[in-house]
Amino acid sequence: MKYVNYLMQEQEITCLECGTEFYGRVGKKFCSPTCKNSWHNRARRDSSLIRRTVESSIERNYKILTRLLKLGIHSMDKMECSLLGYKFECVTGYTRAVNHDVFSVFDIRYALSSTRLFSLERITVPTESENY
Ligand SMILES: [Zn+2]
Repeated sequence: MKYVNYLMQEQEITCLECGTEFYGRVGKKFCSPTCKNSWHNRARRDSSLIRRTVESSIERNYKILTRLLKLGIHSMDKMECSLLGYKFECVTGYTRAVNHDVFSVFDIRYALSSTRLFSLERITVPTESENY
């Protein structure tokens, strides 16, 4: 849990309305009440609300995974990830490996057991010189 405590102190958040980056509690989405109201007013009229919510969850997931990699963390309890705001249903890729499932969010992938996320790594795209 020490990683969770460390990360919860300085969670970087992008305001869903204006895109301003600020520091705040996990789960906070807006930099101000004005932005919160603007976003909700538009969202009510907007039939693509689900899409935007999923997109922002994927963006948040990517930021969480990027931060874990920066801290040198390649394995973590699933519950701890959820506490950080990670949404396991919002990923960009999935493959079934022999003994477990492998998920990816853009260029970061991880394996998932029933209780742990592990083998967290950035996917390295081969450079042109390696193709020949
Ligand atoms: Zn804002």
